[in-house]
Amino acid sequence: MSKRVGGTSIGIDLGTTYSCVAAWFSKHNRVEIIPNEQGNKITPSCVAWDGTDFLVGEAAKNQITRNPKNTIYDVKRLMGSRFKDSRVQMDIKSFPFKVIEGLGEKPMMVFEHESIGNKCSPEEISSKIIKNLKEAAEAYLGTEVINAVITVPAYFSDQQRQATMDAGFLAGLNVMRLINEPTSAAIAYGLDNSGDIDGPDVKNVLVFDLGGGTFDVSLLNFNKAGIITVKAVGGDTRLGGEDFDEVMVNHCVQEFKKKENKDMSKNAKARMRLKIACERAKRDLSSTTRTSIEIDSFYEGVDFSMKITRAKFEELNAHLFVKCLEHVEKCLRDGDVHKNDVDDVVIVGGSTRIPKIQQMLIEFFDGKPLCKSINADEAVAYGAAVLAAKLSDTGNNKMKELIMLDVTPLSLGVRTCVKDKSVSPVNDMLVVIPKNTPIPTVKQKKLGTAYDNQDNVQIDVYQGESSETKENIFLGSFNIDGLPAAPAREIVVTVCFSIDANGILNVLGEVKPTGYKKSMSVAIFAQR
Ligand code: AMP
Repeated sequence: MSKRVGGTSIGIDLGTTYSCVAAWFSKHNRVEIIPNEQGNKITPSCVAWDGTDFLVGEAAKNQITRNPKNTIYDVKRLMGSRFKDSRVQMDIKSFPFKVIEGLGEKPMMVFEHESIGNKCSPEEISSKIIKNLKEAAEAYLGTEVINAVITVPAYFSDQQRQATMDAGFLAGLNVMRLINEPTSAAIAYGLDNSGDIDGPDVKNVLVFDLGGGTFDVSLLNFNKAGIITVKAVGGDTRLGGEDFDEVMVNHCVQEFKKKENKDMSKNAKARMRLKIACERAKRDLSSTTRTSIEIDSFYEGVDFSMKITRAKFEELNAHLFVKCLEHVEKCLRDGDVHKNDVDDVVIVGGSTRIPKIQQMLIEFFDGKPLCKSINADEAVAYGAAVLAAKLSDTGNNKMKELIMLDVTPLSLGVRTCVKDKSVSPVNDMLVVIPKNTPIPTVKQKKLGTAYDNQDNVQIDVYQGESSETKENIFLGSFNIDGLPAAPAREIVVTVCFSIDANGILNVLGEVKPTGYKKSMSVAIFAQR
């Protein structure tokens, strides 16, 4: 699936709200962030259908208020998710575009100009964004681009990773590797600070990455030989700037109702205009303490006008900001590092510009200044481009020396039960690979039969931290039939879990003493 290859390679930061592409330029001996056709270094992760063509990036975002029902954004939140997931259902409620349940419980975006081919899966939408970035890179580099490293939130599940691989494949790329976003930012930080000869031999670095849709926190270890070891990761794949915008939008909807006695919440166009105005106001409030939101002819001919202070914005979002700090605390606990032993706190992602977030972090780390030396918008793509150059043997010596050791973000395990029997399945999660295990890794567990002459076993694979499988993410299952007749516990099924460098899982079940084997790859590619 992913291989080491030569040729031109790019690094892609596929963000919820913005995406960014970078490449290593041997000629200039540096990584360059590649501008899109409008000359901007970040591209909105937005895809629209205008009735004839798909528009991507700025072209799509520019027509969003005119065409909200056919302009898809935030699709990263739907990647690798099931339509029925409660969080997907919550997101769908705020989307102006239609999302239905497709094959395999996949959420599918439906364009209003419905015709065959205008229903798209999250992977298909993402592939259009990736293709757009690939084409921008090809135009800039003057050569065909085949290989890419794509970044994913550290906290992405196996299915979300698979969906990202699939999107890259659909865009015509060979995805050499998926890399966790904070690890990628850490590479950018590491290269930037590798000349720090007076610093300690080993540094603990915390990367706090708060973007448009996802929040990641990673605790890493840097040593002077260029080895970057991830100790622990945490976060939330549905927490970011979009949530702060949504909180503001809901506040404005209520204020408008109070003032004008009009409920505009179901009007997609008005809501979209409000969302854009709120996002702008949020950005303003990072540099000023008060601003106003003004929209002419907002709803039923009535204008919208509201003043908002930074303090009000902070109060409205306090519950979400606190969540970020809770993840930091948990990540430090998981990595067994005291906050006083963190040498640098690196912030990346557009939402880290919010002053309250910075203030909370500084206070948490007892006044330690935050490290802002790497570009919040570009660092993730930069690190991915470094890894892409390394994997395709085109980088410089510093890159060749770079070694990265990542971890799996969520525990992986099984629930075993018996097919077609009245024996009720146990819901306990038997963990095979605990979270924060360094990857790649292979681990196995032996499971004895539960009763005499048991002739089959069903292995359900889950990912998550709950001790009860029903609270975790179901990844897939397989059956092993035809177990030989034997007393309970005599027949042993060995389940072997292996995770590759992309964080993708393969499960093998083997029956001893028969030697019968059955494997399950959750890979979408494998099902083609
Ligand atoms: P990213 O995914 O890292 O590109 O971050 C995008 C998110 O950062 C969006 O939700 C933006 O609204 C948010 N953002 C960008 N600049 C600012 C700013 N100055 N203040 C607050 N949020 C910002």
